[in-house]
Amino acid sequence: MTSKQVVIVGGGVSGLSAGVCLSERGVPVTLLEQKPTLGGRAYSFKDAETGDIIDNGQHVLIVGYERTMQFLKTIGTLHLLSIQPLPVLIFHHPQKGFCRFQLPKLPTPMHFIVGILQSNLFSFMDRWRMLRAGKDIQAADVEDSLATMTVEQWLDSVGQSAECRRSFWEPIAVSMMNENLATAPALPFVRSLRKAFLGNWRNACLAVPNVGLSQLYVEGSQKYIDTHGGKISCGADVVEILFKDSLVERVRLRNNVEVECTALILAVPPYRVQALLPDAMLRGPSLSDIQSIRYSPIISAHLWFVKDFMDHEFCGLIGRRTQWLFNRRKIIKESGKGGHVSAVISAAYDFVEYSNEELIRLTLEDIRSVYPALATEPTHAVVIREKRATFSLTPKTEYLRPPQETSVPNLFLAGDWTNTGYPATIEGAIVSAERCADLAMRVV
Ligand SMILES: Cc1cc2nc3c(=O)[nH]c(=O)nc-3n(C[C@H](O)[C@H](O)[C@H](O)COP(=O)(O)OP(=O)(O)OC[C@H]3O[C@@H](n4cnc5c(N)ncnc54)[C@H](O)[C@@H]3O)c2cc1C
Repeated sequence: MTSKQVVIVGGGVSGLSAGVCLSERGVPVTLLEQKPTLGGRAYSFKDAETGDIIDNGQHVLIVGYERTMQFLKTIGTLHLLSIQPLPVLIFHHPQKGFCRFQLPKLPTPMHFIVGILQSNLFSFMDRWRMLRAGKDIQAADVEDSLATMTVEQWLDSVGQSAECRRSFWEPIAVSMMNENLATAPALPFVRSLRKAFLGNWRNACLAVPNVGLSQLYVEGSQKYIDTHGGKISCGADVVEILFKDSLVERVRLRNNVEVECTALILAVPPYRVQALLPDAMLRGPSLSDIQSIRYSPIISAHLWFVKDFMDHEFCGLIGRRTQWLFNRRKIIKESGKGGHVSAVISAAYDFVEYSNEELIRLTLEDIRSVYPALATEPTHAVVIREKRATFSLTPKTEYLRPPQETSVPNLFLAGDWTNTGYPATIEGAIVSAERCADLAMRVV
């Protein structure tokens, strides 16, 4: 092994984007991933029965995720996103039926104001309440007061009605934060809303991959790193970090192979960081609390039907257990026959121990509450439970997120859980990775 190299542990989106970013700057990387495949919490596979590509969980991006868009451009897969020409959200309300929230092509903040006033999702009074919340979202000087609040407390402080919460804030916040309103922190939520709804109207356009997640994130990254002289090893489980003179010198794999490092980027979840770093480092100020980080689950139920009955690509469900339905037949371009719907429950604490049969029944009930004419049973179903889908964001965990820099000058931390100011998202993972790449450049 060459002795002058950046070693990246973890082949999720943060590890891959750190690898791409360093390769772009001419720095050779060695990426070590414990599993046989890359992608971490963003991967896809072929369903054996139908041949359809399934994601471990439907991912939705916004155009305002600038670093993600740039990363996909670099690895040559930006064209694999279907991007809305105008920001539109379709919801299904139990009493009002399908409702629309659309931002017109107007300058900021007129697009938000007109979008709220025109939406049939809100009552007359709720439109004014939404505009009151919009004022807070736009005002950067509210950040200090938001720092200790939950989303629910913030919604109280801006006078949102119970109906406004149920119809808009809940489906948006729970899926964006993967946490309940009473737990999720207000600050990263409001920052994300500012980015989405109060930047240019284009920022709020949703982008969904029209291929599986592995094709979107993994294949292009792998090719990019390979052609820039980097190395990727799967099945390479790092079990120990070896230090010399207060610097990382090598990592040791489970099979006892050792890999030398000039710099090390740990792009692994917090529970693996805890297992890998020495106690002295874990007692330091920025890492001493990572053992109290908890995780929040996401359930995805993929259901196949004889016919495609969904008119929209996706739809938010108001007042149901399922928050979003995705029509995979419309989203994924290489689609097969009949209908294929993915029903997503974020912050799924109450349901994660349910059996597959119970989850299929529950999501089917929710689907039928939107499409009562759907009489047929699913022809096939696959349930995916991601028990540690993201770390659980609370106002307290916001302060537990460590920076990318550590007390060891050639050791850096990447991942959606590190301090980026974003919720646990692809954008956060990429932002953390780019910061690590900048830091690693100083020592190679
Ligand atoms: C169901 C679901 C839906 C989601 N929806 C969205 C969405 O709509 N929009 C959005 O922006 N984000 C979404 N996310 C979040 C997004 O997927 C994550 O933020 C992102 O994938 C995190 O990437 P990461 O590289 O930080 O971590 P990970 O993907 O967890 O990568 C860490 C990698 O490190 C490897 N590893 C761990 N320990 C070792 C070791 N000792 N040696 C070698 N390798 C090791 C792991 O195997 C893993 O591959 C969703 C996540 C899930 C699970």
